[in-house]
Amino acid sequence: DVQLSNRVNSIKPSPTLAVTNRAAELRAAGQNIIGLGAGEPDFDTPAHIKQAAIDAINSGFTKYTAVDGTPALKKAIIAKFERDNGLKYEANQILVSCGGKQSFFNLSLALINPGDEVIIPAPYWVSYPDMVLVSDGKPVIVTTTQEQRFKISPQQLEAAITPRTRLVVLNSPSNPTGVAYTLEELAALGEVLRRHPDVLIATDDMYEHILFGDKPFCNILNACPDLYERTIVLNGVSKAYSMTGWRIGYAAGPAKLIGAMKKVQSQSTSNPTSISQVASQAALEGDQECVKEMVKAFKERHDYVVSALNEIEGVECIPADGTFYAFPSFQKVIDARPEFADDIALAEYLLTEAGVALVPGSAFGAPGNLRLSFATSMDVLKDAIGRIAKALNS
Ligand code: PLP
Repeated sequence: DVQLSNRVNSIKPSPTLAVTNRAAELRAAGQNIIGLGAGEPDFDTPAHIKQAAIDAINSGFTKYTAVDGTPALKKAIIAKFERDNGLKYEANQILVSCGGKQSFFNLSLALINPGDEVIIPAPYWVSYPDMVLVSDGKPVIVTTTQEQRFKISPQQLEAAITPRTRLVVLNSPSNPTGVAYTLEELAALGEVLRRHPDVLIATDDMYEHILFGDKPFCNILNACPDLYERTIVLNGVSKAYSMTGWRIGYAAGPAKLIGAMKKVQSQSTSNPTSISQVASQAALEGDQECVKEMVKAFKERHDYVVSALNEIEGVECIPADGTFYAFPSFQKVIDARPEFADDIALAEYLLTEAGVALVPGSAFGAPGNLRLSFATSMDVLKDAIGRIAKALNS
């Protein structure tokens, strides 16, 4: 029997990928399953982006690149930060990685010593706590409620900070809740962070472009430009341009930290795929109309899903500000029906009885909720919510 490391034993496989796999298994066994578990847009990657990659292959751009990304892509990223976020960076402050996931992994390994604490507001993206654990750090989970629209308050943040705190993670708009912090809310959190100069901030802006309202996107640096020296901005092309399979994410921050993250990457994957880098450059520099079209579709689906879920007895779903997720509470259903011990049992029931795959809220540190991804067609969504309603009424 192989003895595995304590490190690997401290983490679990990604639960969102597990749901997707389980749905695929049932489907292979002949069941009619609607998968609303996956965290990826259903659209094809826009044609001009694919063409740039095809041209890159044909012109022989198929070798190693600089570990931290091609100068041309880094230039496009610097221009993007200036254009979209009003942020200025030099090339040595940018690291291109194999997806946003690797960006955070690099950060975690470059920053954390054993026992260092990382504040993660819940509900959180499933991977943050595990990546902190793999780095021998201690995730400090701060629970938020639906009543506070799943946003951490300045008081909660203050109370969670200790002398061991190294990093606070903010993700807005959020996976899984879809809620976004306002500029004022971020300013209030920044007020707390100013009192703790040793704490770094990671702002995960992966869903920046998938916003439904009229207000422009903002992150903590827009609210508190003075935190620039201790903030790492994480972003990528996966969600905005429907490029999840291309595996390109990027980080921007203090040159010393970015350099350390680059060193980690140089001993793991080296550069991200050369071809994907060319495609990502085309995405960032090209016409942004494709993003608007996808966001329009997500908004229509969001409006339908939220109102349809709220019509099911015992289900409460707050409207999201962005992303392609709804995060309804099924707590009243769970409380009323003893056969559902928790959200995991309920998700299992909906998978086997309704044939709808949703991710249990527990995976995101929020038991009682389920995450529904509406990155699929209206017809499929109507079918899925009809099935959920029917299964719960039976
Ligand atoms: N950050 C958040 C909040 C996410 O939801 C995801 C993907 O699900 C990522 C980062 C990582 O994206 P990727 O590694 O696919 O670029």
